[in-house]
Amino acid sequence: MSDAKRVYAFGKDADGVNHTEGNRGLKMVLGGKGANLAEMANMGLPVPPGFTISCQVCMEYYDSTPPAFPVGLSEEIASYITELEAKMGKSLGDPADPLLVSVRSGSPFSMPGMMDTVLNLGLNDVSVRGLIAQTDNARFAWDSYRRFIQMFSKVVLDVDGDRFENALTLKRRERGAAVDTELTADDLEDLVATFKRIVADTVDPAAYPDLVSDGRVVFPQDVAAQLHLAIEAVFRSWNNRRAIDYRRMERIADDLGTAVNVQTMVYGNKGETSATGVGFTRNPADGTNERYGDFLTNAQGEDVVAGIRNTSAIADLAEVLPEAAAELYEVFTILENHYRDMCDIEFTIEQGKLWMLQTRVGKRTARAALKIATDMVGEGLISKEEAVTRIDPDQLDQLLHPQFDRTATYDVVAKGLNASPGAAVGEVVFTSEDAEEAAVAGRKVILVRWETTPDDLHGMIAAQGILTSHGGKTSHAAVVARGMGKPCVCGAEVLKIDAGRKQAIISGTDIVLSEGDIISIDGTTGIVVMGAVDLVEPEVSGDFDIILGWADTFRTMGVRANADTPDDAVLGRRFGAEGIGLCRTEHMFLGDRKQIVQDMIISEDEAGRAVPLAELLKVQTEDYLGIFEAMDGLPVTVRLLDPPLHEFLDSPRELAVEIAKMECAGASAGELAAKRRLLALVDSMSEQNPMLGLRGCRLGIMFPEIYGMQVRAITLAACQLKAQGRDPRPEIMIPLVSIVTELETLRAESEAIVAEVQAAEGCSFNIPIGTMIELPRACVTADEIAKVADFFSFGTNDLTQTTFGFSRDDVESKFVPRYLERKILLRNPFETVDSGVAKLVKMGCDLGRETNPKIKLGVCGEHGGDPVSVKIFHNAGLSYVSCSPYRVPLARLAAAQAALSEKEAASDNR
Ligand code: PEP
Ligand code: MG
Repeated sequence: MSDAKRVYAFGKDADGVNHTEGNRGLKMVLGGKGANLAEMANMGLPVPPGFTISCQVCMEYYDSTPPAFPVGLSEEIASYITELEAKMGKSLGDPADPLLVSVRSGSPFSMPGMMDTVLNLGLNDVSVRGLIAQTDNARFAWDSYRRFIQMFSKVVLDVDGDRFENALTLKRRERGAAVDTELTADDLEDLVATFKRIVADTVDPAAYPDLVSDGRVVFPQDVAAQLHLAIEAVFRSWNNRRAIDYRRMERIADDLGTAVNVQTMVYGNKGETSATGVGFTRNPADGTNERYGDFLTNAQGEDVVAGIRNTSAIADLAEVLPEAAAELYEVFTILENHYRDMCDIEFTIEQGKLWMLQTRVGKRTARAALKIATDMVGEGLISKEEAVTRIDPDQLDQLLHPQFDRTATYDVVAKGLNASPGAAVGEVVFTSEDAEEAAVAGRKVILVRWETTPDDLHGMIAAQGILTSHGGKTSHAAVVARGMGKPCVCGAEVLKIDAGRKQAIISGTDIVLSEGDIISIDGTTGIVVMGAVDLVEPEVSGDFDIILGWADTFRTMGVRANADTPDDAVLGRRFGAEGIGLCRTEHMFLGDRKQIVQDMIISEDEAGRAVPLAELLKVQTEDYLGIFEAMDGLPVTVRLLDPPLHEFLDSPRELAVEIAKMECAGASAGELAAKRRLLALVDSMSEQNPMLGLRGCRLGIMFPEIYGMQVRAITLAACQLKAQGRDPRPEIMIPLVSIVTELETLRAESEAIVAEVQAAEGCSFNIPIGTMIELPRACVTADEIAKVADFFSFGTNDLTQTTFGFSRDDVESKFVPRYLERKILLRNPFETVDSGVAKLVKMGCDLGRETNPKIKLGVCGEHGGDPVSVKIFHNAGLSYVSCSPYRVPLARLAAAQAALSEKEAASDNR
């Protein structure tokens, strides 16, 4: 780092020649603001000259303990100041004609408002007189000086900003002034004295020994000291609480640092021919191709954002300052053509002269992003490939689910995991039965549970949203809610739920949520709010389909949906799914079927199981008929039963309570004996680690008739549809295989049943049989397994669980947050596929293809709908990803982006 440049000048020399050392490509060095100021200066746009101290210098500052300017930096800054003074023909602190500068932060990635800025630097008791003489405007000069003291003291000396605001209010009151602009030069001069007194009274002399005189801190009069302290304060602001939190939320690295931009001040508050404003080259809310933004005449930048005065629309600038407006509008066009994107802009007009203070590619809503991208393709500004690359897949979620109104204000009372996107408002209910009852009565509810189980399905269907205090992003609540497209916040540990009392206490507060209370949840961010927050409904425009249509032409990976019902299948198809990659059949074993399943489980022998199995065969055949019909012509991968059987039984605790009640009520000995037998059975089936126990293909080995019934139902349903001239394409998937012989055994048994049913039905067609790869052993022996599999589908939920040895239902709300905070993990591995798990997936793919080159390879864990993971899967060579229907559009886009970035990397290497 030591031999790299540390400071970069920008702007024109005194003779009008551009002397800019940076450009837009140096964003990681100059930060976004500095790089774009340099770029605008290079484009010949009017940029007040200045210089940028690099982000790397900020990190060098932190290298020493305590943090300090690196050796030689002060001298380097001094020489850039001298150069700037020469450019401007003024000098810092000059009593006759002072140069004033702004000192602003600017990191490589936008962190709006998170770090600090000091304006009007260079004013002191002497130079303020020079400013008065130069501008012939005492009011303006004193106002600038009081603003400087106020901002500098708050940012640099850490004085409570309210003290200055209170003094200002007092002055206004004393003078009978409604607004600041009614204060006179004398009033403002008075305020300067008051502000200096506040500094002397409040700043700790021990903290600033260099500023102390007579035992009190004096507001610094030495301009070099002002500059040094302000630059240091900007460096420090990189690590203030706000900035750290923002970086964590936006996943911005902590070691990037912020640049410091020292720039000549220009003034929008020098009278009626001066103005300041912000703008966008297109409408950032809906994407309309129109100039968008606000300005204020006779004001400084902070007045526009502070909202004290009513701003005017940028279109009206032409009426007030026609020449500057014409130039500004021209700049809008120049910038858009140069950046080939919508830009946002900050500008100031000083006595009729336009100055550009900032530009960058502007933030926009998802709706605007789609419109701008398709419009720009139409205008010939960008290619379809670029249009597809520019849309953030995560942002598409905004378009598919209701959101909190962005203008709403609210207090967050709890935070959990953002498990399923979208927002919902409703009454709190604590049981699925209550949810259902309320829904029938037309009331909207949020189902609040410790965690949900398959038994809660009806409650989840009835509720607007789901909130749990336990469980992670692959917990039952999260997976099912995502599949339904319902908002879900899970693992909100501060909720201490007492379902019996129908109450939840928010620990650490005195807030109690009782049944019937209205709450709002936002599953996109994971927050819980007391009361109703206004929601905005999603709006899917034609541009959405256009972009996704283009994406489909670029992607090489297929996208399927995880769907368990005909409705989900239809939805997935509507969103562009090319089949079902995972149909979890256990979801079909609930509701009124639960009793049949229980009868089957508690039967003591095969003969006893025959009756319930026959009943299940009937209903399962109906299930598959519906799903195959909805996905006619497209593959449907049906996974045979996966979860441990006792998930379908009552809990031992509930049974014990029931027995006690029966005893009290005088139940017959026979009834009691039957219940006790049931309790003994349930007890005997319970496992210490059910996730690692009798589940998946192990069930198929232990109870062949269950898998047999399912295979029979699949084949029957397909035969019936074939007979009707339809085109069902079932695939049978065996879960949790770790030993090739498990698959060999179950495949042989399944094939025999398929053949038997097809012979009986008089039809013959191939039903591929494959397996889920969700255990490390399956990955490392994938070459053996592939010999007996037509396809692999990586179950990355279980694969993550078993690779790390992390319980998927516990760790996300227990220690993963701490791991993330301490950077032991950089991402939640249940959300974005971990590199170790990805290696296993890649190994599984490569080994599988070695022995079975024709094998189809997909992924159906929750990661299939995560854009970052989709790219990893593309690079691993998977044939498709499968995700919940609502994430299908996002996966289509992410798959296209992965293919395009691979193409670009290949062409770069040529
Ligand atoms: C998986 O483990 O990734 C998977 C898709 O199966 P489930 O989540 O149903 O265990
Ligand atoms: Mg699994």
